[in-house]
Amino acid sequence: MTKRKFETEVNQLLHLIIHSLYSHKEIFLRELISNASDALDKLKHATLSDEKFKNFPFEPRIDISFDAENSTLDVSDTGIGMNEQDLVEHIGTIARSGTRNFIEQLTGDSKNDLNLIGQFGVGFYSSFMVADKVDVISRKAGEDTAYKWSSDGQGEYEITETERDTAGTTIHLHLNENGKEFASRWGTESVIRKYSNHIPFPIFLHYEDTRYEGEGDERKEVKEQKTDQVNDGSALWKRSKQDLKEEDYKEFYKTISHGAEEPLLYVHTQAEGTLEYTTLFYVPAKAPPDMYYANYASGVKLYVKRVFITDDDKELMPTYLRFVRGIIDSEDLPLNVSRELLQQNRVLAKIKSSSVRKLLDEFKKLADDEEKYAAFYEQYGRPLKEGLYQDFENREKLLELARYKSTKGEGWVSLSAYKERMQPDQKAIYYITGEKEETLRQSPLLEMYREKDIEVLLMDEEIDELVIPSVMKYQDIEFKSINRSDAAEDLKTDKDKEEEKEADPLIGRMKDLLKDDVKDVKASTRLSDSPSCIVVDENDPTVQMQGILKSLGQDKAADIKPILEINPTHAIVSRLKDVQDDGMFEDISRLLLDQALLIEGVELKNPAGFVRRLNAIMDKAL
Ligand code: ADP
Ligand code: MG
Repeated sequence: MTKRKFETEVNQLLHLIIHSLYSHKEIFLRELISNASDALDKLKHATLSDEKFKNFPFEPRIDISFDAENSTLDVSDTGIGMNEQDLVEHIGTIARSGTRNFIEQLTGDSKNDLNLIGQFGVGFYSSFMVADKVDVISRKAGEDTAYKWSSDGQGEYEITETERDTAGTTIHLHLNENGKEFASRWGTESVIRKYSNHIPFPIFLHYEDTRYEGEGDERKEVKEQKTDQVNDGSALWKRSKQDLKEEDYKEFYKTISHGAEEPLLYVHTQAEGTLEYTTLFYVPAKAPPDMYYANYASGVKLYVKRVFITDDDKELMPTYLRFVRGIIDSEDLPLNVSRELLQQNRVLAKIKSSSVRKLLDEFKKLADDEEKYAAFYEQYGRPLKEGLYQDFENREKLLELARYKSTKGEGWVSLSAYKERMQPDQKAIYYITGEKEETLRQSPLLEMYREKDIEVLLMDEEIDELVIPSVMKYQDIEFKSINRSDAAEDLKTDKDKEEEKEADPLIGRMKDLLKDDVKDVKASTRLSDSPSCIVVDENDPTVQMQGILKSLGQDKAADIKPILEINPTHAIVSRLKDVQDDGMFEDISRLLLDQALLIEGVELKNPAGFVRRLNAIMDKAL
């Protein structure tokens, strides 16, 4: 028997793990299972690639058993195993340069160190969080002698020869107070399911089942040893795409969505090269019910080498893709990557950005089938529009995915379709915003555009109002809100300008009268059938935006005055010029303003005044 000392770094690491990861003690089981799985992977590889192991009896499995009375827990595998040299080199020393590096960065400042620890795998040593003594009994595949490595984690370990029937490794934990709960079925089963369900080898849990037989005095306790496979045993996303059928993907979706519905689409990516990772994403047929809650649940799970890491990290997807469900499995991340570090991790950032691109491309493909895309868009159009201001990098792609209602056509219109229909001399993409599609379709603001056969997009969602001003352009074409005063400017003809001049005296008179209620009065070129309309000044929020601001408690928005535009060619307006009676002139001017406000869905400040004036006019007319 030889006693050996841990490397100094191991002691440091042990100390750190025990004191900083204490609140996540259950992860020791994930680490041990992951090691067992790695050992099975290695032997599997050897049987496939090494002549010597070609006929080696390989029955991959992981067995977990416990003894509640003595507080012990065993994790056994039939993997590659370790000989004496391996035990010395792999356990009790730190071979991995990453970990060494990590230890060099330790500062002694516990908060900082806790952050750092997330960057590196804690691995085997985490068992000392729950055990005051650990034995590793191992026999290397192809060798006869087995060895037992033992330590109490206090700086020293010893290795002795021992017996083991087959190749593989057993980690035998003498649980401490802290780890006692793991010597039970309830303490282990859920942890295994949670973290290791998709380990591609079967994990068996051995436990004692107690049942009762007989009645009354005859009733007696019967104990029975049972063994259950706890995990699914297959990481579907790791299987080659060629081997998977649509049915397999759909079945798997049901297990991750805990439902019976089929997904709207799925994308499976197996990336090799500088970064090795697999992603399997699904878009649910129906938007998740919590999609519009600030504390929505993340739908993407992160795995590292098929070991579950987290399902509660919203950073795995941009918020505008929060409806996506699925899995990211990386080969290049450390198992114990912490939440703080996930956000700064460059590997993950790269996986994330290519995943986003991939998903957007997939959505684009979906658009080939108009009906399918409409179904998709009804569910997810709104969050995708959020992407227009959140994700500058993919703005072009997102603009291609965006759809709007339009004055031309009934259904959804894409910007590229709009572009194709533009008039030869048309310079902008015109849009109108407001609360209801129906109101928008009837807005007087559309009159001139209709006359000139220019298409206008009808944007009836709040989000459009927020997004379009920040997007500004589609390809090279500017977006122009026809709710604004200057949108009609580029469409003005010489004749329009002449008419404007003629209306000057009338406008002056109206301005004096209405100066407390409007910012300006102008002659309009955009109207044909209506006598008046309101628009907002270039940098003022539109009527709909004012509503949003008010609902956010910004009452200043209430003070913003509109611009009144009147149609100089309209019969009422041209006759108004000649009205001498000041009372009548005021009544009609105010009615022109109020009706323009009403049609825009604005609440009148003085509805009683409106009714009184209307009645006065009706009286005159009769
Ligand atoms: P990591 O798994 O990241 O390498 P660990 O601390 O978990 O770090 O394990 C250290 C090393 O010990 C492993 O790389 C492996 O060589 C060896 N090892 C641990 N558990 C087993 C096992 N069950 N079978 C074979 N080798 C093992
Ligand atoms: Mg490990």
